Amino acid sequence: MSMKNYEFWFVVGSQFLYGDEVLETVAKRAEEMAAKMNASGILPCKVVYKVTAKTNKEIADVVKEANYDDKCAGIITWCHTFSPSKMWINGFVDLQKPYCHFATQYNREIPNEEIDMDFMNLNQAAHGDREHGFIAARLRMPRKVIAGYWQDEDVLERIGDWMRSAVGVAVSKSLKVMRFGDNMREVAVTEGDKVEVQAKLGWQVNTWPVGTLVEYIEAVSEEEVDALMKEYAEKYVMNTDNISAVRYQAKEEIAMKKMLDEEGCLAFSNTFQDLYGMEQLPGLASQRLMEQGYGYGGEGDWKVAAMTAIMKAMGEGKNGGTAFMEDYTYHLEKGKEYSLGAHMLEVCPSLAADKPKIEVHPLGIGGKGDPARLVFEGREGKAIVASLVDMGGRLRLIVQDIECVKPIMEMPNLPVARVMWRAMPNLTTGVECWITAGGAHHTVLSYDVSASQMKDWATMMDIEFVHITKDTTVESLEKELFLNDLAWKLK
Ligand code: MN
Repeated sequence: MSMKNYEFWFVVGSQFLYGDEVLETVAKRAEEMAAKMNASGILPCKVVYKVTAKTNKEIADVVKEANYDDKCAGIITWCHTFSPSKMWINGFVDLQKPYCHFATQYNREIPNEEIDMDFMNLNQAAHGDREHGFIAARLRMPRKVIAGYWQDEDVLERIGDWMRSAVGVAVSKSLKVMRFGDNMREVAVTEGDKVEVQAKLGWQVNTWPVGTLVEYIEAVSEEEVDALMKEYAEKYVMNTDNISAVRYQAKEEIAMKKMLDEEGCLAFSNTFQDLYGMEQLPGLASQRLMEQGYGYGGEGDWKVAAMTAIMKAMGEGKNGGTAFMEDYTYHLEKGKEYSLGAHMLEVCPSLAADKPKIEVHPLGIGGKGDPARLVFEGREGKAIVASLVDMGGRLRLIVQDIECVKPIMEMPNLPVARVMWRAMPNLTTGVECWITAGGAHHTVLSYDVSASQMKDWATMMDIEFVHITKDTTVESLEKELFLNDLAWKLK
């Protein structure tokens, strides 16, 4: 489901104490607020005003409805007046959707002449929202609290960012991952507890035989390949004479897409150690599928494949720069320290600064034919890298702030797409922090999704979150990880 089809339900708390007239005014204003927030054009999804809730039953009923409505990606609450919070307990205990408490107020300013006790009774969010906030704190609910005026752009942007994280939750809960082959032999960080991940994050991670994919590849018609080759010629620079190698990747793309769509899978992984019956490791084919929104992970890394799909969905409609990535090698020149990120083949062209080139080169690994791939440089700009690791008994999401730069050298003999960045707080401390936290060599790199959105997503998913920023020190991180370890063992 596309971002714009999701709804967030606006539930306004009140009580009978104030009489019908006040309640009618509250309902009318809540409707007006939802309409204006939608008309702002800032929110990626629709706000739907649902109810001015005055009883335990009204709240429990709207929560039940929200839980079972696939379009509803979360609820947003606010208290125009005072809403005694014991009436919220039953509904909140049952709530299974992301929850944002929007502490706002209908009027921006206190009207100097007009203000009297009637005004005070109608406009008492300042204490209504405190009563409302207490009960969520008391119930230890995962929530987002956003305070500010409902017509302010920066406030609406924060709500919009949170909505994207909540859509990431919806995508996660229904995500299916197709694995072609198992994980690369002996690799630890790409492993994980698939049962725990399904219970916690919703992912259905299952394996399909490479032989079935080979049958699908062989069933692709020359006409289908011709049509896709035309698209390649339009979108990319054909920088090779080895057209048959490119045509084979087109077949792989068509075959994998068919299998993914038939099973409703939004992410996939494969491994160069199991390409039985295939002529090439999918390079261009995997890059193309990522460009279309599918998540991918190399070497059987289904966790990074799933995270790539989720983060792509969270960033839908932005610049489109979200990709499976791997820290490859360092440039350690004093004062110009950078990481070079790439992969054997599979970097998503949504990161490309210019039109990617299709090239065919030998691949030293896997013992298959020379694979076609897209070669390009990544864009400049602020971004994050994210890695989900299984700590045994819990999942840890590690996010690091990075700054991508135009690669400082041409690297004319490097036959893959590449991205160069400076990790925060600096390369060496950044590496020390990443390694201390146990972050993988595989990540999702995104220009579109922020660390704070990933934090919100982790909160909603009830998993550990670790953020490496410009201010992080190894000492502070070690302490944080130690305390996290204790806290998560108690949870
Ligand atoms: Mn890899």
